[in-house]
Formats: sequence, C-alpha cells, structure tokens
Amino acid sequence: MAFRAPLTNHHTDGTLCPPEHKHTSSGKPLHPGCPDRAYTQAVCSCGQWQMQQPGKGYVNESRRRHLATHRIPAGPLLRDVLPFNMR
Ligand SMILES: [Zn+2]
Ligand SMILES: [Zn+2]
Repeated sequence: MAFRAPLTNHHTDGTLCPPEHKHTSSGKPLHPGCPDRAYTQAVCSCGQWQMQQPGKGYVNESRRRHLATHRIPAGPLLRDVLPFNMR
C-alpha cells in the first residue's frame, strides 16, 4: 500500500490557498482573493502524521522523510528490469 502526503497551502483562517493564488518571490499575494499564504500543510494518508509550518521547503522535506519510512523493500521496479533500449 502506497502512502501519500500531498502538500497544501492555507490562509491564516485555515482555508485552502489554491495553486492559482500566485505569489511574488517575497511571498506577497498577487491574487485579489488571496489574503496571504500563512502556512503549508502536509497530511499523510496513513493517518499517523501531519505537519503545519510556514516554511514550504521545510514541510516538503519532512514529508519526504516521513514517506521514506513507509517504503518497504520490494521487488525491482519494472524500469530496472527492462533492457536499456526499451526504456
Ligand atoms: Zn491564497
Ligand atoms: Zn505516513
């Protein structure tokens, strides 16, 4: 079973800040309906882990670290089995 922990961005009041809410590189909202982007959240589908932090990069890093703990050694992936000329 594969777990997923999608990143979502949220406003101060907790509502979703969708990807179409563009921001300047300094984090200022460019969308008229966007009050701000307060924090980034990741919730793992395992139900055992979630994180809310203002730093998107930090959440993404922690998310990947958590997802790695779910990875059980499995058989080789298909792309590792196919000969090079079939990739
Ligand atoms: Zn927004
Ligand atoms: Zn998990």
